[in-house]
Amino acid sequence: MDTAGAPVGIVGAGTMGVGVAQCFAAGGHPVVVVDPDPAARGSGPERLYSWTRATRLLRGQHASIVEQRVVWAADPAALSGVRLVVDCAPERVPVKEEIFRRLDRVCPADTVFASCTSAIPINHLGSVTGRPERVIGTHFMNPAPLKDTVEVATSPATADRTVQWILDILAGLGKKAVVVGDGPGFVSNRVLMLTVNEAAAVVEAGTADAATVDRVFQDCLGHATGPLRTADLIGLDTVVDTLAVLGQFTGDARFRPTPLLARLVAEGNVGRKAGQGFHSYPSNRSLVIPRPAGAGTHV
Ligand code: NAD
Repeated sequence: MDTAGAPVGIVGAGTMGVGVAQCFAAGGHPVVVVDPDPAARGSGPERLYSWTRATRLLRGQHASIVEQRVVWAADPAALSGVRLVVDCAPERVPVKEEIFRRLDRVCPADTVFASCTSAIPINHLGSVTGRPERVIGTHFMNPAPLKDTVEVATSPATADRTVQWILDILAGLGKKAVVVGDGPGFVSNRVLMLTVNEAAAVVEAGTADAATVDRVFQDCLGHATGPLRTADLIGLDTVVDTLAVLGQFTGDARFRPTPLLARLVAEGNVGRKAGQGFHSYPSNRSLVIPRPAGAGTHV
């Protein structure tokens, strides 16, 4: 199956949805982004423009060309003509189940369903569709346009040709892939989420503050960022949702969020996108490059 220029649907216009939409549009694919939230759809074009402008400095992407390839819609029926859907909806099992059931009714039988899920087993998502052989995990990293490698998760039901098609389409975006098997959290988040939760527990215990915890990982262990800055980038709400999924599918109490993590989320201090999480981001807003008149194409 040819991958060049294949129409792509994205479900969810949040952090990952807009980033993944940018990757596909920059790779020459027409993209439809579906989100039921008018605020997410309304701000989507601005966030896409802003990110594409920023990426342009690093990767040479042309903001207006990328923008022209993306349309925004409320109804999943807008995905009736796509060859690939990438689910970037919230990390909630019932939400994703409902989305995959709906996609199965709306999309042609040979459309491939990929999920950006952080932790939900691909076998579980495939089982609610009539096409588990065409369901696969594409765990893009955040920020998707700047992260060159995707964790591709395959369930026992995923067909070899689906894996190959996804590897081809990712290669067309300039992305490398690491293929892993199925399981809650795959490789990355099964380990990372436990690390984040333990790092929060260390802060809570008073052993070190957040900045010191991250410095130990950066300066002593050579990590690019520490676990708490990484958690702030992911979004602490998404971290807590992912821990809940890991707890649900492993039955392991180690994935229960520490009280500090739960409190930060309850207070709305969900990390970089809120300007405050384990760390403060007072200049968060300065990252946004204002977009000239117009607000994207909505269908
Ligand atoms: P987010 O909260 O920023 O965005 C989720 C979007 O989904 C919102 O715009 C919301 O309006 C929309 N949405 C809600 N219900 C929907 C529905 N029924 N149909 C379509 N859209 C719906 O979340 P995010 O951080 O972008 O995460 C999205 C997915 O990507 C999750 O599965 C998450 O675990 C995964 N992920 C996140 C990161 C990260 O760093 N944030 C990294 C890798 C993977």
